[in-house]
Amino acid sequence: MTVAVVLFTSDLRVHDHPPLRAALAAADEVVPLFVRDPAVRAAGFDVPNRAAFLADCLADLDASLRRRGGRLVVRSGPVAREVRAVAAACGAGEVHLAAGITGYAHRREERLREELGADGVALRVHDTVTTAVAPGAVTPAGSDHFSVFTPYFRRWSQQSPRDPLPAPRTVRVPDAARGEELPARPDAEGVSPDLPPGGETAGRERFSAWAAAGLSGYADRHDDLAGDATSRLSPYLHFGALSPVELVHRAREKGGPGAEAFVRQLCWRDFHHQVLAARPDASVRDYRTREDRWRGEDEAAEDIAAWREGRTGYPMVDAGMRQLRREGWMHNRARLLVASFLTKTLYVDWRIGARHFLDLLVDGDIVNNQLNWQWVAGTGTDTRPHRVLNPVLQGKRYDPEGTYVRRWVPELADVRGNAVHEPWRLPADRRAGLGYPEPLIDLGDGLARFRAARGRD
Ligand code: FAD
Repeated sequence: MTVAVVLFTSDLRVHDHPPLRAALAAADEVVPLFVRDPAVRAAGFDVPNRAAFLADCLADLDASLRRRGGRLVVRSGPVAREVRAVAAACGAGEVHLAAGITGYAHRREERLREELGADGVALRVHDTVTTAVAPGAVTPAGSDHFSVFTPYFRRWSQQSPRDPLPAPRTVRVPDAARGEELPARPDAEGVSPDLPPGGETAGRERFSAWAAAGLSGYADRHDDLAGDATSRLSPYLHFGALSPVELVHRAREKGGPGAEAFVRQLCWRDFHHQVLAARPDASVRDYRTREDRWRGEDEAAEDIAAWREGRTGYPMVDAGMRQLRREGWMHNRARLLVASFLTKTLYVDWRIGARHFLDLLVDGDIVNNQLNWQWVAGTGTDTRPHRVLNPVLQGKRYDPEGTYVRRWVPELADVRGNAVHEPWRLPADRRAGLGYPEPLIDLGDGLARFRAARGRD
């Protein structure tokens, strides 16, 4: 009887899962394993919203495996130690794993290779599990990665992603594979009240519903803040409850401008992955320095607190920040705007904003979060690094009726017309009755400070 272990990480699904399929093809019995690694908690990534979503994903994965005759084995401890123990207990000859690209993932892979190698167990790493195209699969002449999106997109689009794999029919797990209880979904303080349910089943249902009703209009409506017309699939992609390869295929099967625009966004995910794979330090350091002397916690404590709490006096910024707290998610247009406001208007270090996002976002991940923050801050891959988004103009353009603002900023629920984006234009007595803060900063002053800092005044 041959045995293989599948170590699940950011790929919590049974459909289109190359490591699981390969393990099943190679061995009679398979141990589907998830390890709760204390290093993740120590690094501050085990935050309530993602812990809750993860618990849903694990419960759903376990249920899917049980329907196929198997089960999920969950253990806690340093990942290499736990995998080695399971492999030894079950007599496994191979361990299968999805390729990862962060510094943590590289260290994990190295340790596994080292420790399993000592026992004569082979480690097999599979790509295109968490991205549609593997980082490094397409490169420009003379570099190991693309630093500009458009040429990357062109080359990426010429690739034919592999065919999605069906979910296995049967999974046989050896009796010797011992684990612990699945983690319970924390109801603790800190979980956003409107967090969506996690798991592959919920993700597949969401994709099917959205593909039927929202995909065709996506190209026109993805920036419509009030319409909330994006897929909201990001948390499922983050935890690998959905496969990007499968989403690309299913969207292309539908076809049309909406599907094309959606696939382009999935390419942004891959783009950031190939940047971080080549430059892992971009998670903490400027990808391209602009010699900024950002303001930090000490210098800008009050501004940062007002931004975090959604009381800057700029309705679009406050609406986004309050949505983040309530849902553990924020619309992309709002993310761009609040990040521009923090980094450029308030001239605060992008890492402070990125950390706050990671504390709350259910889809928060090092790759997309840090590199999008760098893109907005102008230290990343944006080809117009000094652009500053004006929250009032953005509001008039992307929330012309003020519906998004009124949804998230109840103080302005009765304000009509353009004043919802510029409440400071209301008469003083009306303003006083709203209980909404005055603007934290004059936009012109913020712009002048930023331009001076970038040597562009
Ligand atoms: P859709 O518009 O339906 O797009 C489909 C999918 O494409 C998304 O689910 C996502 O996986 C991918 N995608 C879309 N836009 C981007 C992008 N700009 N970069 C990378 N992938 C993208 N996304 C995350 O998944 N995790 C993060 O931590 C994260 N942090 C961000 C921080 C900032 C400052 C900004 C500006 C953007 C960030 N994004 C992040 C990207 C983007 O905002 C979200 O992926 C998107 O809003 C998720 O909503 P959706 O699933 O409805 O997206």
